[in-house]
Amino acid sequence: MQHIYTDYLVVGSGAVGMAFVDTLLQESTSSIVIVDRHHGPGGHWNDAYSFVRLHQPSAYYGVGSRALGANAKDAVGMNKGMYERATAAELISYYEQVMQGFLATGRVRYFSKSNYTQDLGKLPTTDEHQFVELLSGKTYRVSVNKKIVDTSFLNTAVPSTHPPKYSTAAGIHCLPLNELPKLKKSYAGYVVVGAGKTGIDAALWLLESGVDPDTIHWIMPRDSWFQNRENVQPGDDFFHLSYGALATQVEIVAQATSLPEVFSRLNATGQLLRIDDTVEPTMYHGAIISHSEITELKRIKHVVRLGRIQQIEATSIVLEKGTVAANPDWLYVDCSASAVERRPSVPIFQGAKITPQFVRTVQPTFSAALLAFIETNMKDDAQKNQLCSVIPLPDQPVHYLAMMAASMSNQYQWSKNEAIRRWINSTRLDAFSAMARNVKPFETDKLALLERYGKNVGLAAEKLKMLLSVGRV
Ligand SMILES: Cc1cc2nc3c(=O)[nH]c(=O)nc-3n(C[C@H](O)[C@H](O)[C@H](O)COP(=O)(O)OP(=O)(O)OC[C@H]3O[C@@H](n4cnc5c(N)ncnc54)[C@H](O)[C@@H]3O)c2cc1C
Repeated sequence: MQHIYTDYLVVGSGAVGMAFVDTLLQESTSSIVIVDRHHGPGGHWNDAYSFVRLHQPSAYYGVGSRALGANAKDAVGMNKGMYERATAAELISYYEQVMQGFLATGRVRYFSKSNYTQDLGKLPTTDEHQFVELLSGKTYRVSVNKKIVDTSFLNTAVPSTHPPKYSTAAGIHCLPLNELPKLKKSYAGYVVVGAGKTGIDAALWLLESGVDPDTIHWIMPRDSWFQNRENVQPGDDFFHLSYGALATQVEIVAQATSLPEVFSRLNATGQLLRIDDTVEPTMYHGAIISHSEITELKRIKHVVRLGRIQQIEATSIVLEKGTVAANPDWLYVDCSASAVERRPSVPIFQGAKITPQFVRTVQPTFSAALLAFIETNMKDDAQKNQLCSVIPLPDQPVHYLAMMAASMSNQYQWSKNEAIRRWINSTRLDAFSAMARNVKPFETDKLALLERYGKNVGLAAEKLKMLLSVGRV
């Protein structure tokens, strides 16, 4: 067994581990060991389907010290006019370059294809841990002077690594959406299984590839609310949409008398979008969509709303709430993996262990980078945790408001701390603070939006307490 020493041991070189280490390098002189089962950095992006793209702009994803993409706008396609969104290939190349930068500091050692296996317990001045190189079987003992950072907590799951939970009869054509670009023949029909972000990507890919929408069947266990991509654009040219959305959202919440009223108004004002205007969504997973994608998806008419699939037979699909006829020559595209796991949160800072979770609404990389800043600049766990209430991961629509409440509370805490305020103003992972900071005294329309936001944000925070206690979140 080889014995190594480090200040921080980071489990996982996905987007969260990378953003954390990047800030840790900037803010400290610590040494860092990173361990990951994957062959290279980027986490689940290594397993992603080739046509995946970020659903948010690249401009504020990644690590703080290195830009992702060229901050250009798409000239064609369903993201036309909006800021570019990185592909899986771009993300993998980006994280490779970031890792090269880490290694060049001489303070980071990276063990890929290595599985963190064990917490071996405490010695007087160090915590002892263990990992194993997957191919050589070589075991390492790691003495950690400061902390272990466990980024495996969110447990991201994608279809290529998580087989479906339903059963399929012999001869059924069922594959994860990663396999779609390799198809060489057509099928009598295509069944998209799942209606989250990956289900949407599969459906859009089939439509873009010229598949007749009438041959597509979409298994949609739950309808979802989506964020409107126009409202999360960085850049001054989107100020009125981005800050307009923030101002409208807090105003709607501040004025609301019930949860249904909030969602009805958020939808009517284009804050939250849905695919079918006649169905009340029961899901919210934080996915982002554009109007043109919705228009395209509406072309699919065979939507099956009978719950989850239990079994696929040659001539039928058995679902939780009923059975529908099927054709043996249909292709089933599995998009049923859960992406991130919704599990009870734990305190982020606990003695010698840091468990990164979201501290800003669906912003994993901003959250991880801020946690590293707080780790290196604040005093003790009590203060650190007080600044970092965990934003619960969403599943149902009401969680949209629970996230908003927790995010507003964190933002308020951060605004009172000068060091954190300065850091947020300087990081590329925060798209919106800089936009507000750059408003000139003569830009009265922008100032009016900021004022409208400021006027309602406290009222909204109070109202959320009331609405969420009724919604029992
Ligand atoms: C299709 C898709 C699109 C998405 N788009 C966006 C987006 O646009 N914007 C956004 O903010 N979020 C998006 N997300 C959410 C996504 O979860 C985050 O962006 C982020 O990539 C998650 O990074 P992570 O580091 O938490 O997890 P992961 O990418 O899963 O990385 C964790 C790493 O830890 C390693 N690991 C775990 N356990 C061990 C162990 N015991 N030993 C060694 N290594 C271990 C794993 O191998 C993995 O590499 C998307 C998710 C999906 C599935």
